[in-house]
Amino acid sequence: MSELKGKNVLVTGSDRGIGLAVIEAFAAQGANVAVNGYDSVDEATLQNIRDTYGVKAIGVIGDVSNFETAGKLIAETIEGLGSVDVLVNNAGITRDGLLLRMSPEDFDAVINVNLKGTFNMTQQVLKGMIKNKFGRIINIASVVALQGNAGQANYVASKAGIIGLTKTAAREVGRKNVTVNAIAPGFINTKMTEVLSDTVKNTMLAQIPLNRFGEVEDIAQAAIFLAQASYVTGQTISVNGGMVMP
Ligand code: NAP
Repeated sequence: MSELKGKNVLVTGSDRGIGLAVIEAFAAQGANVAVNGYDSVDEATLQNIRDTYGVKAIGVIGDVSNFETAGKLIAETIEGLGSVDVLVNNAGITRDGLLLRMSPEDFDAVINVNLKGTFNMTQQVLKGMIKNKFGRIINIASVVALQGNAGQANYVASKAGIIGLTKTAAREVGRKNVTVNAIAPGFINTKMTEVLSDTVKNTMLAQIPLNRFGEVEDIAQAAIFLAQASYVTGQTISVNGGMVMP
């Protein structure tokens, strides 16, 4: 039997893409799940999870970049499921553009959702995890945080910030049996990447030894590993087909 059976898992930005795959992977292990969308969560998605996996599935709607709203997402999960044992900070956006032309608004927007959202959720979930003497926090960073990427100064800064936040949080709460790790995905087939041109995609593919883009399930698999790993903390796991070998 999976040790994740009966655990309560909240994944931000999980009504589609990587987040939804992570939700399904935890549900498949018997965990109860809280699905978060920015402004909605499809009831059909929740019902499908309940019917397929026989677990509790609730929707918690709201913007992680707002501190009070982030607190509300956690409170609603605790009310609906009983606790937050695993938090996956996955909500993320891009507003790409070259640094010289990037507007301060685009810089702030990406930092606010990706980095501040991760802070907002992490700080407010810790109280319960420390009280329960158990917690797993998994932050979704990116391969670009490890090497930079032209046209993504805001996004790369946010994701590199997430890695620093992960290491610091891991040092602060390790004694409380709370682990904090990050996953740095490479190029994963989702809505976020489908907008890229064929030229950009082909250039990227040429840099990937495993010769394919990743699927959302590849990231979900790493999240399940980190949720079960009791002696891994402060780490960033690269899931990128070998694109970057840090
Ligand atoms: P996606 O398909 O664009 O999904 C993004 C999710 O984040 C959606 O559920 C969206 O909700 C939610 N979201 C956006 N802003 C939010 C906010 N302020 N509050 C709450 N939720 C919010 O993206 P994805 O490709 O699955 O990416 C998921 C994560 O992986 C992101 O952090 C991304 O940076 C990271 N990542 C992706 C790749 C890749 O190749 N795809 C590579 C490296 C890292 P709505 O549906 O309501 O808008």
